[in-house]
Amino acid sequence: MRRVLLVIDMLNDFIDPKGALYCGETSRAIIPAVRALVDRFLSAGQTVIYLRDAHAENDKEFELFSRHSVKGTWGSRIIPELEPPPGSMVVDKTRFTGFFGNDLAEIIARARPDEVWVTGVVTSICVMDTAGDLRNRDYSVVVPVDAVADFDPEFHEFALKRMQRVYGARLVESSARGPEAAEAAEKNKRGGRE
Ligand SMILES: [Zn+2]
Repeated sequence: MRRVLLVIDMLNDFIDPKGALYCGETSRAIIPAVRALVDRFLSAGQTVIYLRDAHAENDKEFELFSRHSVKGTWGSRIIPELEPPPGSMVVDKTRFTGFFGNDLAEIIARARPDEVWVTGVVTSICVMDTAGDLRNRDYSVVVPVDAVADFDPEFHEFALKRMQRVYGARLVESSARGPEAAEAAEKNKRGGRE
């Protein structure tokens, strides 16, 4: 099974306590789960794409949120704990959805994934908008619930529920191995009996 992992906005401005739009402790708590997923996907030869907010100095988004993640600054850098390993990709974005003004659509299309796993911050904004645009492109979406975070716990719960009900997203624990692993386990079991 082909899978793509998206790691959304795990940047200094959102995840470092000194960041311009720090999302709080809940956002730091997902770092190990995201890290484990990145390593697991890469070692299985799957596609890993980091999405990085990278705004112009005078971006219109700053009318909604205070200045953050200006392209090339410390705030727009991926946190050191999740430094993109060799073999992963980094794609800049300038809007909540990952599919805007970049070639993410083509990159994912080339990977021809059976499912796309969406991780990072924040659940009710960039994660949900990107999940919606994946669904609009007919991709199956998987959300590992312990690898997404939101500064607003109510919005977090609502966004998970909405992604599940409206986009058909599968909500899993990050340690879930998916159907492929289940098949392999089943095969092993059968092998053991013979
Ligand atoms: Zn932004």
